[in-house]
Amino acid sequence: MVSHSGPSRERHRVRGTVTLGAGSIGDAVSQSGIEKAYPQMTQMYADGGRFHPRIVGLEYRRRMENRWTLLSAFICVICGFVPSVRTRRVNVRSLPARICRDLIHPQMDAGDSTPRRADAASRHAAVIISLMPELPVYMDHHATTPVDPRVVEAMLPFFTENFGNPASLTHEHGRRASNAVEDARFGIARFFGVQPNEVYFTAGATESNNIALNLLLPGDHFITSAMEHKSILVPAQRLERNGVEVTMLHPDSEGFIDPEELRTALKPNTKLVSVEAANGEIGTLQQVGVLGAICRERGVLFHSDVTQAAGKVPLDMMNVDLAAFSAHKLYGPKGIGGMIVRRGIRIEPVMLGGGQEKRVRSGTVNVPGVVGMVKAFRIRGEEMIAECEWLTALRNELWDRVVAEVPGAFVNGPRERRLPGNLNVSFDRVEADSVMMALRHFSLSSGSACSSGDRSASPVLTAIGVPEALAYGSIRFGLGKTNTKEHVALLVDDLKRNISRLRETSAA
Ligand code: PMP
Repeated sequence: MVSHSGPSRERHRVRGTVTLGAGSIGDAVSQSGIEKAYPQMTQMYADGGRFHPRIVGLEYRRRMENRWTLLSAFICVICGFVPSVRTRRVNVRSLPARICRDLIHPQMDAGDSTPRRADAASRHAAVIISLMPELPVYMDHHATTPVDPRVVEAMLPFFTENFGNPASLTHEHGRRASNAVEDARFGIARFFGVQPNEVYFTAGATESNNIALNLLLPGDHFITSAMEHKSILVPAQRLERNGVEVTMLHPDSEGFIDPEELRTALKPNTKLVSVEAANGEIGTLQQVGVLGAICRERGVLFHSDVTQAAGKVPLDMMNVDLAAFSAHKLYGPKGIGGMIVRRGIRIEPVMLGGGQEKRVRSGTVNVPGVVGMVKAFRIRGEEMIAECEWLTALRNELWDRVVAEVPGAFVNGPRERRLPGNLNVSFDRVEADSVMMALRHFSLSSGSACSSGDRSASPVLTAIGVPEALAYGSIRFGLGKTNTKEHVALLVDDLKRNISRLRETSAA
């Protein structure tokens, strides 16, 4: 156990103390409240201390006279009622049963009959509970997201009861599966504001991007940008070797593609333009509507990889002819995604076989995946706007604190028109790998996950002009709905301590 100052190592000494795994901080908490306890907890946390991961503190702002007071406080917590300014809402369902029991029947040391009391005058009790993160804290939501339990619930029957092949329309099992797939197609079309027959299911955005680029033939001109995901850039390199003319648009220092640059790059033989809606490394949101309108004016097809943007920010799909998306970026399952192909566009399949998905993508459709993906989209449709707001605020809090409190930290990408949960920071005179190793309590990334293990500087950072030395010290913080203000506080603390230590070590 990690020691900490004060009398708090004595367990159960104060009435209502919650036992915390390898130790107890109850005394500190009950004396001075969460303001006092929290730094201790963060210190323990940062030093690798072991304690119950979920409970930070239990404070009695007022004297707890009997169990009824405690019970009322507990009910307040359950109902989300906030009895005092300093009380936080808590999701009681996420508390382990043992802790809930402790709240109603707090443990008390039999040998200490005069527990310290914060304020004998008052009758009201308030319980402050804050959720402490499970370790490590996940902050890589651009690489992938945890599957929403509601999504899992929707998927489960399609593994067992409704397991039919959606192509087997001769029987009820097959028809049930087929109905689920068509219902999902309808739901996804609705989310994007397109027709159901313009939605195709694939194994993910990599496949969708590859299928879209399969439109190009030798002699065609293709325009894309240096900011794109590898599932655009790598096929583009092969196309170029096979006689397709490729033009790369260059982003400005914040990662934006200038629509005028696109206008100038268009040629009579330009067949396809592909620009992503959001960048997964630095979060820049492109003006997809404007870029698409320019292409439409000139009769050129416009493709957008909306994988990072879909379900995170509102999308203007009006002038998008083809798009790629993936369920696992929006709290859905992995290995399922799709593409939008507007009516009248004939595309060549990458996979040949049974001719499923109107011959665009042969292979038995992943029914549980499709059902999970539409559920994830439906949830995003309901929750996205509110999440956009609080996640942007949380990200900006992290941004402001990192820049103010960690010397030599430079943010890459724009402040506005950026993915809500994205922050990409270059730390001067340190290597991203060392930072990630030092911040072992956080799951972070130094760039696109698909490029992890690749030791060259990120092409995205290079494209926006980040000097190579700084690009090597860049970390992507990908906040999502699992993150809280407490995570941000812990992260900043960890960064402050570790970045300067790493610099000292490397200078020595
Ligand atoms: N495009 C973008 C912008 C992405 O971020 C990713 C995932 N890193 C992909 C495409 C590939 O998606 P998938 O994992 O579904 O193949």
